[in-house]
Amino acid sequence: MIVHSWVVSTVESTVSQDCIFCRIIAGEIPSAKIYDHGGVYAFLDIAPVNKGHALVVPKKHHATLFDLPPDLGRELLVALKTVGQAVMTATGATGLNVGMNNFEAAGQLVHHAHFHLVPRHVGDGLTLWTQHAYDSVEDMQKLAQAIRSAIG
Ligand code: 5GP
Ligand code: ZN
Repeated sequence: MIVHSWVVSTVESTVSQDCIFCRIIAGEIPSAKIYDHGGVYAFLDIAPVNKGHALVVPKKHHATLFDLPPDLGRELLVALKTVGQAVMTATGATGLNVGMNNFEAAGQLVHHAHFHLVPRHVGDGLTLWTQHAYDSVEDMQKLAQAIRSAIG
């Protein structure tokens, strides 16, 4: 994900003292708000992958996916669908990527859980990630078994 260096420095300076998204939701920092219903807020990303790139966030501070209360799931899904459709309509996009970065290893810069909605256009040239093959079918099945065991 492309993030301008001044945005990164803004994020880094607030992570240690405060949460930038909590401050945006509280109205202390201006944002291009597009949705505010119940426990969910959405605004435009300041450094969009494509214009209209939106962030959907719980109003209460939760750091990652794993901290989100399951009860918020319905409201979040409604927000993702409503905002996602509106972003597509307003930008003329014919596709939409929904993404979430959790923890630094996955590129999470702001430690307030958020979903990225990125409007897509045919031929816009954005490549999200590179895929690879497993060493073997057995290798793939072994990992599937390990994940099933972790689920319990
Ligand atoms: P992450 O890498 O944590 O998933 O993404 C954080 C996103 O927040 C980035 O895409 C970045 O551009 C966006 N962002 C960081 N600071 C601000 C800000 O002050 N205002 C807005 N609107 N977006 C921000
Ligand atoms: Zn927060």
